Amino acid sequence: MKLEVDRDRLLSEIETLAAISDAEAPAVTRIVFTPTDLKARAWLRARCEEANLMVRQDAIGNTFARWAGSDAKAPAVGTGSHIDAIPNAGKYDGVVGVLGGLEAIRALQRSGFRPTRSIELLVFTAEEPTRFGIGCLGSRLLCGSLSAAAAKRLKDGDGESIEEVRRKAGLRGELDEVKSPGGYYKAFLELHIEQGPVLERRKIPLGVVTNIAAPASMRVSIEGAGGHAGGVLMPDRRDALCAAAVLILAIETAARTSGAADTVATVGICEVFPGAVNSIPSRVRLSADIRDTDLARRDGVIKAMENACNEISARRRVAIHTEMLNADAPAECAPAVVQALSDACRKHGQEFLPMISRAYHDSLFMARIAPAAMLFIPCRNGYSHRPDEYASPEDIARGALVLAEALATLSA
Ligand SMILES: [Zn+2]
Repeated sequence: MKLEVDRDRLLSEIETLAAISDAEAPAVTRIVFTPTDLKARAWLRARCEEANLMVRQDAIGNTFARWAGSDAKAPAVGTGSHIDAIPNAGKYDGVVGVLGGLEAIRALQRSGFRPTRSIELLVFTAEEPTRFGIGCLGSRLLCGSLSAAAAKRLKDGDGESIEEVRRKAGLRGELDEVKSPGGYYKAFLELHIEQGPVLERRKIPLGVVTNIAAPASMRVSIEGAGGHAGGVLMPDRRDALCAAAVLILAIETAARTSGAADTVATVGICEVFPGAVNSIPSRVRLSADIRDTDLARRDGVIKAMENACNEISARRRVAIHTEMLNADAPAECAPAVVQALSDACRKHGQEFLPMISRAYHDSLFMARIAPAAMLFIPCRNGYSHRPDEYASPEDIARGALVLAEALATLSA
């Protein structure tokens, strides 16, 4: 079997898809179920059909393009990612896994390889949370991590429900049919840009992901008492922002002292009311995002944060209310799939680094219904979710080649 990736074609397809965008080049904006997204989906479907793949869509718009194996009933080998892009993003996030996956399949077809197990290219709906406020919408539903009932309650910024939006996009069927039957996939692999600087810094061309970190995100509101900045003396104050400041530092300390470098915590939003120079802050709203590869350690930070809330609330006489928005469990990649990817790297003489994915991906959810792993390629300066996101042609082609090799092993 002589595997060869058609690099020029793959790169030109990445450029073509990037041009289907609501932002001016080089920026890419492609929000799920907008006319632009639907146009991109139609274009992609045509590319899959050109490659003689059988294409179907489920009720949330997850797309499955199947190359039937000789044992059509055997569990399939899946690969893929997403093509939606946040406002003002780049060309490569998600797209490398989708178009690289398609090219990996075409490379296998050209080589004369015939799979025993079917190989399926997956394109997940709304990996990005832009429209409905929740990331990995398609893969969550597919894996049963989000129920159809809970999905139906989601609305976009204009108040339109998922049901309305997806029907308008022409999707048929019911959301409770999206969940994949158990044992459908033998393995799932996702090729992705690293979205971090490790591979580039260490000059290693490929990363094989062994663990995927997962975030817990929370909303915190602190209610104190406002008043005149001149009139209320310090002993009488119940300043919500001062309480927030102590809480933010307590969250930072809990993450710093967890005992592992993989623990990270971020407060990215701090809204102060009423927000006037001469008025004591009466109310503050914070966000907290806590991530780790180890669930117990991450939950330890959450516990430390709760303790800090209780202590600060008593000492400063403010009311603190926390609301958990989501708390997904981290995933461990499957040893057999990690092995297949590592062997594929070795077979093509490529150095690789076993590593952790610190961003989460559709694979985090696929790992719950299938043995899963990811393959990373470097991206310049680790930049992602911005217009100057960049992965080199050599790295993209190398990723597709190693992916193809691993798909061959797992589907043979
Ligand atoms: Zn992505």
